Amino acid sequence: MKYQNLFLESLSRESRNSLVRLCVEVDLPLRKSLYEPGIAPMYAYFMTSGIASVVAMMENGGMAEVGLIGREGVVGSFHLLGPAKVSTSCFIQLEATALRIRFADLMNCFRANEEIRERLLEFVQEQAVSLSQLAGCNRLHDNEERLARWLLMAQDRTQTDTLNFTQEFLAMMLGSRRTTVTLIAGVLQREGLIKYQRGKVKIIDRAALEAASCDCYQITKELYASLYSHPVLAGEVDMEASGALAGEKMAKVVAPAGGNGAGGTDTLGHKDFVGRGAAAKKTKTPKR
Ligand SMILES: [Zn+2]
Repeated sequence: MKYQNLFLESLSRESRNSLVRLCVEVDLPLRKSLYEPGIAPMYAYFMTSGIASVVAMMENGGMAEVGLIGREGVVGSFHLLGPAKVSTSCFIQLEATALRIRFADLMNCFRANEEIRERLLEFVQEQAVSLSQLAGCNRLHDNEERLARWLLMAQDRTQTDTLNFTQEFLAMMLGSRRTTVTLIAGVLQREGLIKYQRGKVKIIDRAALEAASCDCYQITKELYASLYSHPVLAGEVDMEASGALAGEKMAKVVAPAGGNGAGGTDTLGHKDFVGRGAAAKKTKTPKR
C-alpha cells in the first residue's frame, strides 16, 4: 500500500484511523501549490511520496527554499500553531502523492487528541530547527556544498537514486543562478558524484556527495532520522491495518493542476526509517 506517511505510522491505530477516515488520496503534480503566503490553507497533506518545497519569496521575484517535506511530514502543520500569518509558500517540487485532509478537520483533531498534537508538534519542531540551519546555510555555505546537501536531503525523503529536477528548479531551491547550477552540477558530475542529464539527477557516489556537502546535511539528517522514534510508539506501527482501512474508506481524487500526476518513487518501510537514526557520523573532509 502507498499510504506510507511516517507521521501517520507513528500514531496508535486509533489516532491514525481517526485521521485517515477524514482523508482522500490525491496525486499532486509538479508545481501544484499547497499553500500561499498569508492565506489560511483549505487543506493539509500527509505526504506519501514525492517532495513539497517550502520557499521564501521576495518582492523582486527571487526565492529560496527554506524547507522540504517528504513522506515524513504534514504540509500545513505550521498553520495549526496559532494566528500568525505564515509568510512562506509551499508547492510540489517532485511529483507526489498524499492523503489530503480538510484543514479544519486536522485542526479539530489537533485540539482534541493529545497524541496527534504531540506528534504534530514534534514534526513542526523538526521543521523549525532545520529551517534555522538552512537559513544559516543559505547565507554562509557555497553553492557546491548546498547542492550536495540538497540532493542528499531529497534522496532521503524519496528513497530514489534518480531525482527529476530541472536546472530552473535547482536554481530556485538554492537561490542561485541557473548558470551557477549548471557549473556546479558539471563539477559534481566530472568528479563522479552524480550524473546529470535532461532534468534528471542520478546520485552515483553517495558517500562522496556527503563529503562534498556542508555539515548542515548531517545536522538535518539526524533531526529527520530521530523524528517520531519515541520507543513506545515504535512497536505500534501497523501499516497493513492502516492501508486496509484507507483502501476501504477513502475516495481517490486527482488534484487539478498541470503535470500528469503520476507517482513513481520507491519507498521504504518505517523500520528502515527508524534504523537510519543510528547513522554513523562522517568525517568532514576539508573544502578545496
Ligand atoms: Zn550548509
